[in-house]
Amino acid sequence: MTKIPEMFGSMVFNEQVMRERLPKDIFTALQNTIKTGGPISSEVADVVANAMKDWAIEKGATHYTHWFQPMTGVTAEKHDSFIKPAEGGCVIMNFSGKQLIKGEPDASSFPSGGLRSTFEARGYTAWDPTSYAFVKDTVLYIPTAFISYSGQVLDKKTPLLRSMDSLNKAALRVLKLFGKKPCRVTPAVGPEQEYFLIPRELYKKRPDLIITGRTLFGAKPPKGQELDDHYFGHIKTKVLEYMEDLDNELWKLGIYATTRHNEVAPAQHELAPIYSTVNIATDHNQLTMAVMRKVAKKHDLVCLLHEKPFAGVNGSGKHNNWSMSTSDGENLLEPGKDLKNNLQFMLFLTAIIKAVDEHQDLLRLSVASAGNDHRLGANEAPPAIISMFLGDEITDLLETLASDREYSNHVGNKLSTGVESVPVIYEDTTDRNRTSPFAFTGNKFEFRSLGSALNIACPNIMINAAVADVLNEFAAELEKAKAASFKKAALDLIKREYIAHRRIVFNGDNYAESWREEAERRGLLNLKSTPDALAYYDRPENVELFKRLKIYTDEEVRARKDILLENYCKVINIEALTMGEIVLKQILPAAVRFTTELADNISKLTALGVQASAQKDLLDGVSALVTSIYGSAQKLSEAQTAVKKESDLQREAELYYAQVFATMQELRAYCDRLETLVPKDLWPFPTYGDLLLYV
Ligand code: ADP
Ligand code: MG
Repeated sequence: MTKIPEMFGSMVFNEQVMRERLPKDIFTALQNTIKTGGPISSEVADVVANAMKDWAIEKGATHYTHWFQPMTGVTAEKHDSFIKPAEGGCVIMNFSGKQLIKGEPDASSFPSGGLRSTFEARGYTAWDPTSYAFVKDTVLYIPTAFISYSGQVLDKKTPLLRSMDSLNKAALRVLKLFGKKPCRVTPAVGPEQEYFLIPRELYKKRPDLIITGRTLFGAKPPKGQELDDHYFGHIKTKVLEYMEDLDNELWKLGIYATTRHNEVAPAQHELAPIYSTVNIATDHNQLTMAVMRKVAKKHDLVCLLHEKPFAGVNGSGKHNNWSMSTSDGENLLEPGKDLKNNLQFMLFLTAIIKAVDEHQDLLRLSVASAGNDHRLGANEAPPAIISMFLGDEITDLLETLASDREYSNHVGNKLSTGVESVPVIYEDTTDRNRTSPFAFTGNKFEFRSLGSALNIACPNIMINAAVADVLNEFAAELEKAKAASFKKAALDLIKREYIAHRRIVFNGDNYAESWREEAERRGLLNLKSTPDALAYYDRPENVELFKRLKIYTDEEVRARKDILLENYCKVINIEALTMGEIVLKQILPAAVRFTTELADNISKLTALGVQASAQKDLLDGVSALVTSIYGSAQKLSEAQTAVKKESDLQREAELYYAQVFATMQELRAYCDRLETLVPKDLWPFPTYGDLLLYV
């Protein structure tokens, strides 16, 4: 068996490989670019490209690709081989610095939200040297940013890099006030990824899963998650074999996959990597999702990454653990042992409180999608209301400060198991809150509203931007204070801003109905659906924020909003069409067959003078459902036609939600009731019981 340290990163052109394969001056120049973000010369690029190509060929690569993250939400790649014609009808393997640095995919086939009609179709991909290139399936992958001919962003990576830059500058400004001068501050993220595994044979029989990624029909199985026996439960052999294979593949690609366990729902699992710099974490999460799907195929399984593959059982999320650290290794969200006197931590924390309160809309809309609408507020994920959990200790400290009271330090109590051989452990001074959308968990914030399929770039752009903006504001105010009165000025600021924004702090149960009412009293936003949330994207305050930080221009913000609205409409439309087709071609015919069987049986029994009241009851029930299903399917098709007449995109999306999606729910309810009445051999596809309890 290969040793893990040797296997780890074996398919990655990482720092160690660069050190081994590049001349010293080139290596130093490249490292400089990676660490400080400076430009790279064409000579350096040529040498790096050649070394990269030789290394990739040794790893079995024949092609290279500029790998990018367009607004489709998935990654894009176009493979070009290394071959170059040579004399005598031969080829040589060639890869130049120019090819490494810049690519020119046709931008016209990717969503641009209207940016394209005003600008040319041409787009560029530009190498992101801060994220390592790697070899997968005989292709050298080069992580890149994707921009239009005129420099407008067409992807998720470019604004993420810009937001990191903003946060870096703003945090350095604040640290300078504390006499600290690290080279850089970078946000780090550990995304926990949930997923389902189901047998491939059964998946193939579910057109809804194949087309839309989720089941559009399915009655609740007799056993779901009610016994709570799956979470952290024993992992079945077939699943464990998958997880082992997955870990190996991820490790080869330099991804720190570390935690694996069963999740709450049957057939649901989780993988968490060790956290890394956010742009790398984003690349790695995209790669992880792709590898998850691929490895599943090898095991005759299908990995479902949809946010809500099954109604009635928990959907899948992605917890975004976020912190920021200096190049000197200091985590700025570490409260330390003496919280009360940690002014720097309190200042950064207050900036985050203010940022989350002022930009609730941006955080909410960054996780909005048709799929995630099923989860938010459904008592399995945080509500659509954004709030923060700080825990008792920090909240008490801020409250004492706000009311000028004396503060007494909290000390973690001793916890004893009552068994002598088990060491005593100390209680954390803050408990976890599993219902909060944005929870402080000791030295990081866990943004828990993300759906499993989401590209984590967008939520992190929002967090970075919102926090950077407030840090700039705090820095501007405190830079004016004299050194002698700095501490007082900082404390006054913390007190003032905490009082102004403490409505966003909520340590209680976010699933409780009473919280909805309380949040409304506090004036917090409750944006229930994707169209509701997206309407806030281009509010003037938001456009100004992005412009101020040079993350998006006006047009780019509006383009993004339109792309997301359009995507929402398309997803609901595809789901509705799929539903209509399955109802007419599979579900109604099955019901008709059953009613014929029943009617035959009733007439035969009656002819023999045997009573058939149960059969008649059943027949009545099924027949009534057939009528309801047919009517509802027609209503759905009419709603779709009506919505298409709407010319305003925002309004169209709202109608998709209020009319099309609502009718889909109604139609589904009838079909699910029918499923419980129709015999298994007549039901056209595998049931929830088959799909969820089989592996
Ligand atoms: P839980 O499920 O209990 O929340 P996990 O161990 O499943 O915890 O995942 C926690 C995630 O948080 C991991 O990806 C971990 O690497 C990440 N993490 C830990 N510390 C930090 C930090 N300082 N900044 C960002 N992420 C962190
Ligand atoms: Mg976890």
